[in-house]
Amino acid sequence: MQYVKHLECVLCGKTYPASPTATTCPACGPSGILDVVFDYDAISHREDRDEVIHSTDNGLWRWMPLLPVEPDGPRGPLLPGNTPLVPAPRLAEALGVGRLWLKDEGRAPTASLKDRASAIGVAKALEVGARTVATASTGNAASSLAGACAAAGLRSVIFVPKTAAEGKVAQLLIFGATVFQVQGSYADAFRLATEAIAEQPGWYNRLSGINPYLVEGKKTCGLEIALDLNWKVPDWVVVSVGDGCTVAGIARAFIELKRIGWIDRVPRILGVQAAGSRAIADAFATERYAPGGEDTIADGIAVGEPRNWIKAVTRIKATGGTFTLVTDDEIREAMRLTGRLTGVFAEPAAGAAVAGLQKATVQGIIGKSDSVAVVVSGSGLKDVRRAIEAAGAPLKVQPTIEAVRAALPPMN
Ligand SMILES: *Cc1c(COP(=O)(O)O)cnc(C)c1O
Ligand SMILES: [Zn+2]
Repeated sequence: MQYVKHLECVLCGKTYPASPTATTCPACGPSGILDVVFDYDAISHREDRDEVIHSTDNGLWRWMPLLPVEPDGPRGPLLPGNTPLVPAPRLAEALGVGRLWLKDEGRAPTASLKDRASAIGVAKALEVGARTVATASTGNAASSLAGACAAAGLRSVIFVPKTAAEGKVAQLLIFGATVFQVQGSYADAFRLATEAIAEQPGWYNRLSGINPYLVEGKKTCGLEIALDLNWKVPDWVVVSVGDGCTVAGIARAFIELKRIGWIDRVPRILGVQAAGSRAIADAFATERYAPGGEDTIADGIAVGEPRNWIKAVTRIKATGGTFTLVTDDEIREAMRLTGRLTGVFAEPAAGAAVAGLQKATVQGIIGKSDSVAVVVSGSGLKDVRRAIEAAGAPLKVQPTIEAVRAALPPMN
């Protein structure tokens, strides 16, 4: 919290002290999402980007000057961050872009980017001495919170929609969470969690969008992409979008790095939504928000009532970026292509980002010589059913070498 000045409402601009239990702006209600405001002048005077490279703090904590937690405060033992930025030259060629990297967030402790937000959530819960942390989630925010809570000795109470992928629910149960599988949509799960938390004053609220600190954790993914590329950012960074927190955080990373003088330009951000769950893309295009559907195989971005659409829209605009939409077929195709050409196994919501890149090259948004980093936001192992659906069946053979010879396809 060295450099945190206060919290500021994205709607009315009113400011509030950065208390660990702050949620939304009391004057504006649930849409009044609060933004953490940092003292960038002080950071650029006192901090040095080389210190970050050599930081003794591990994982995402190396970004302490840009994080809303106490440098000496309590933290959970799980350590997100430092995921690999994998060069993907064969996928670059297949998609028709100049250079391409995949930020493989499937390598996080619980195998999704959400671990970056949960680490902040648990640090805040420990700061206030809460014993229980609660959230609603499409799946990954929940499994990451459950893992981080298990590591820190806290109880997690989780509300997931019935569409949550089995692998994610399995993680929740293994991590010992109290799991409510809501027989309804993610929007229903969110509402129910909000009501339950309101009745339990001792519970720490890790609801995406509502809690202003989480998105700052997601920001570290963008900060790392800049560091991984030795502060020479790509032309585009591609991020799939559900609630809008991830893309808002990643866009903010580059805007902040430019502001403190650690990079010299901000990459354009391409937000990707599923055609069946497109509320933020529509708000971007029309400047009017309306809730939408949750109809996609990409459960991680199936969000009908996104909480963070204002931050997502304004930040993507600030980078000169835009949105694209992808169908479930395009997502399956991108999952196969990514796996075959890079060895990175993407869950549907992560494959959506690759599909969005493919779409953007066809639409002429991203050019042939452009350099691109795609955030692969979660591991394909979380949703094996969808992966097999995308990739098809194995060759079934009788246990004889003749059967293998007969079935062996030509090398391509
Ligand atoms: C949550 C999630 C996203 C999108 O993040 P939002 O903050 O909801 O926009 C993308 N991919 C995966 C795998 C996710 O779990
Ligand atoms: Zn307000």
